[in-house]
Amino acid sequence: MAYDGRVMRQALQRFEEDRQRRQTQYQERRERIYARQPRLREIDGELRSTMSRIISGALRHGTDPRSAVAVLRDENLSLQTEKRELLKKMGLPEDALEETPACPLCGDTGYRGGQVCRCLREYYAQEQQRELYRSLAEGLLRGVPLLIKKHPDDPLDYGEVFPGARTIGPVFPAELLPYVFRGKRPQRV
Ligand SMILES: [Zn+2]
Repeated sequence: MAYDGRVMRQALQRFEEDRQRRQTQYQERRERIYARQPRLREIDGELRSTMSRIISGALRHGTDPRSAVAVLRDENLSLQTEKRELLKKMGLPEDALEETPACPLCGDTGYRGGQVCRCLREYYAQEQQRELYRSLAEGLLRGVPLLIKKHPDDPLDYGEVFPGARTIGPVFPAELLPYVFRGKRPQRV
């Protein structure tokens, strides 16, 4: 599939904004958990340094790193267990302190095996839709009063594309649309 460079740049910008928003939310969530149970911050710190010790230990020992690695692995396991139990006591899931990507296919990079991942393709499609509406807003529909009925699954911000248009809210099925106007039907929908 060929991608339009400008549309893709806009898609990537929104993709990146959303990724950063999720990362900030993750960091805030982690800080709240650490504030409730400071031991968890210590454990995470120890786990990180244990990890680097496992790696540098294995490199240093060169010929036979297995015993050192095994000791460090056991240390790691007891910390993992303590962490799991603390989280459980707080009523939190085991992975409450892990940062899980929104897209497990590409780990939120947007690309997979040299191809654009499904998640980024969705951003691209949305951006194309925005482009289409923008060209309508500046062309055919210029000056036409608009009333917008959103599909429940549609994440697009129509106020941004069509400034001045009214959006019908809250979300309801389109089948009910005729009842909205009760006799005073508009010229076009
Ligand atoms: Zn993806």
